[in-house]
Amino acid sequence: MVRVRFAPSPTGKLHIGGARTALFNWLYAQATGGKFILRIEDTDKLRSRQEFVDEILESLCWLGFLHDEIYYQSQRTDIYLEYAQRLLRQGKAYTEKSPAGSGEAIIYKVVPQKIKIDDLIRGTIEFDATTIKDQVLVKSDGTATYNFACVVDDALLSITHVIRGDDHISNTPKQVLLYQALGFKVPAFAHLPLILRKEGGRLSKRTGATAISDYRRAGYLASALVNYLLLLSWSPGADREIIDIKEAIKLFDIRDVNKTAATFDLKKLDWMNNQYIKTSDSHWLLEQLIPVLKEKGLIREGDFDANYLLSLVKLFQPRLARLNDFAEWADFFLLPEITIDEAAQDKFLKNDLSREFQLFSEKIDGLKDFNVESIERCFRELIKELNIESRVLIHPIRVALTGKTVGPGLFEIIYYLGKERTKERLANFIRQERR
Ligand code: GLU
Repeated sequence: MVRVRFAPSPTGKLHIGGARTALFNWLYAQATGGKFILRIEDTDKLRSRQEFVDEILESLCWLGFLHDEIYYQSQRTDIYLEYAQRLLRQGKAYTEKSPAGSGEAIIYKVVPQKIKIDDLIRGTIEFDATTIKDQVLVKSDGTATYNFACVVDDALLSITHVIRGDDHISNTPKQVLLYQALGFKVPAFAHLPLILRKEGGRLSKRTGATAISDYRRAGYLASALVNYLLLLSWSPGADREIIDIKEAIKLFDIRDVNKTAATFDLKKLDWMNNQYIKTSDSHWLLEQLIPVLKEKGLIREGDFDANYLLSLVKLFQPRLARLNDFAEWADFFLLPEITIDEAAQDKFLKNDLSREFQLFSEKIDGLKDFNVESIERCFRELIKELNIESRVLIHPIRVALTGKTVGPGLFEIIYYLGKERTKERLANFIRQERR
């Protein structure tokens, strides 16, 4: 049975690179009916933090990568020591006093040789291990090193496939040497290609990559993010880009993962997110948004009209790249007073349009059937009567009503603002102009 693992070090939050590694491990387990194991590599006491463990677990859960088993390396110290002792007894390792005099390190005596692995993604890779220096297994403070703990655990947890980022490729020959020394079966390896930034350079924890939890907070949907991560290194074929995870499970094989580096492109992710938002259930989107709207003070607990909010969500849904942009884009529907963007004011409200606004306001007021079509009709009439082009009025009215230059169609905006608020906002503006 396939047993794969994701082995994050809780020295930071879960980022795009780690999430992609987790995805491909999880996906391979799903595709093969295997097990997905989570191993928290928290041997570095100084840099590991509980808050990062919590964060990683929460992000994995949000993405839907649920583990079948979980292990913490900090709880397995005795096991590593036992295996290090065994290598000592067999004469395959030696001890070395620390220069400070406190404690002894256990060091593996490297047997120079050439090592060959059949990487499931990259094919055969040959390493010249004649240049590898003796390896520290246990540091003088009694903690196991990454390479040693990793091999002991992967072997004892019966990991069949080690799927991880290309950045670990230099560790692989060292680990193969340790498997052999310990008499363990060497697992299959699959090294995922690098992720590059669009601006060039590698995407790493340090190069400003955003944490998964930050994407979540910004209003990316887990399903969209997972689809995007998937496409970073795999394709369902036929230039398809939108693929449901259930279908991906049916089609996926680790051997089909791309060999070439992936490029992380935020614009593409935004596009993908919009594709998912567009087709999401509006009620569900509203549920996600309610806490955000509360937090931003746009609605108050127990004091909002859910049906009205739902119609607003439907109005914005087709154009949202990030769900939480809704709070900013739709604020003028929810706030009693709007603030007019200064640039928009300069651009569209420089000329005195008091008369035009007044006439439009009167027409709106006179509408018996107040709906999107009738609003549009009365706008078209006014344009004709004044013998002006629609753009002369359409942008200024939008800015006066919303404070913004972009958004949904003007007539829909007016409809959802309602007659009274539309008149009020136009009137405010007329007064301002006359002052
Ligand atoms: N703790 C290592 C990391 O976070 C795991 C490497 C591996 O998968 O072997 O990069």
